[in-house]
Amino acid sequence: MTDKKKIWISKPHMGGNEEKYIQEALDSNWVAPIGPNINAFENDLELYLGENSHVAALSSGTAAIHLGLILLGIKTGDTVLCQSMTFSASANPIIYQGATPIFIDSELDTWNLCPKALEIAIKEEIKKGKKPKAIVAVHLYGVPYKVDEIRAIANHYKIPILEDSAEALGSSYKGKKCGTFGDIGVLSFNGNKVITTSGGGALVTNKKEIKDKAIFLATQARENTPHYQHKEIGYNYRLSNICAGIGRGQMEVLNPHMQLRRDMHEFYVDIFKNIDEVTVFSVPNNDYYSNYWLTTILITPNKQKNIDKDALRVAFDEENIESRPLWKPMHLQPVFSEYTYYGNNVSENLFNTGLCLPSGSNLTDLEKQRIKDLLINFFK
Ligand SMILES: *Cc1c(COP(=O)(O)O)cnc(C)c1O
Repeated sequence: MTDKKKIWISKPHMGGNEEKYIQEALDSNWVAPIGPNINAFENDLELYLGENSHVAALSSGTAAIHLGLILLGIKTGDTVLCQSMTFSASANPIIYQGATPIFIDSELDTWNLCPKALEIAIKEEIKKGKKPKAIVAVHLYGVPYKVDEIRAIANHYKIPILEDSAEALGSSYKGKKCGTFGDIGVLSFNGNKVITTSGGGALVTNKKEIKDKAIFLATQARENTPHYQHKEIGYNYRLSNICAGIGRGQMEVLNPHMQLRRDMHEFYVDIFKNIDEVTVFSVPNNDYYSNYWLTTILITPNKQKNIDKDALRVAFDEENIESRPLWKPMHLQPVFSEYTYYGNNVSENLFNTGLCLPSGSNLTDLEKQRIKDLLINFFK
């Protein structure tokens, strides 16, 4: 073991005004899942996303995905197409609804939903007698999925898109912000995301009625009567006014912090430019703009030099530096092994050779030097 201080893959990074908004909540006694910070945070997000966005602040991104599926009408017995390479939170709410996930492979340009595999899956499932009810599409690591192609398929077969933009706040495609492409969009403010509320999430829609319905369901589906009257099953999914205060402070620094993550991506591109075994995952062309939430690399194994992604992870670990394999595809997870998968093992190959590198917006020059020294030494 080393006594060197831990370098995390992605750490919270406060802007400074978070405390002020929390203090306001305490001073006014809005210590509840209702209050002025929530409304102001939603307003900040709506202005940021533009394009007629309506935002409901929720307790997590997972809660937003769950409510999103409910609002798209997903019920017991339905099937839902879901990107296989993702965090399990993209898929778990399909099961909460009693529906069945069908996993779809990635393509190599963005590592997200493969349009070809998606269309094959839809055709096959229709042939089997059941049309899938929704598509869960993810912008992994901040890189937008093939928005136009996926939208064209969704429109052609009339299947709505649930856009999991949990990792992509600040990213955009052809100048339009991620989170606004789905029939419903989802954001996350968990501790390791681009901005954080310690824990939190949001549902994004272009319809005010959908936002209102999301808030209604998130606050126990209580009808507007003096007593507690319920006609629908509700959830306790609203964000707290304290957490929303953190979110307001974070929105003030979203753009500069995103730029710092993009600088981290450049930092790695520069380190690896003469290292043959490594490719840094980058956007395919200028239509795509990534927040580079995490910088990720693919490593071609080199047996002679004892180089592969596991050896690098262990080398980082010995220096007390956190790195992490890519998301393990859902169709390879024991809990989802019984479900159908369409693809050609693209995501599996990515998982076998990829690694996420420390990418936070608050790494010091000294920490960056430790990372750089290790990498230069490892690939020598
Ligand atoms: C973080 C994340 C989520 C879940 O968000 P929480 O706020 O942690 O519930 C969902 N999908 C993806 C792709 C994520 O990275």
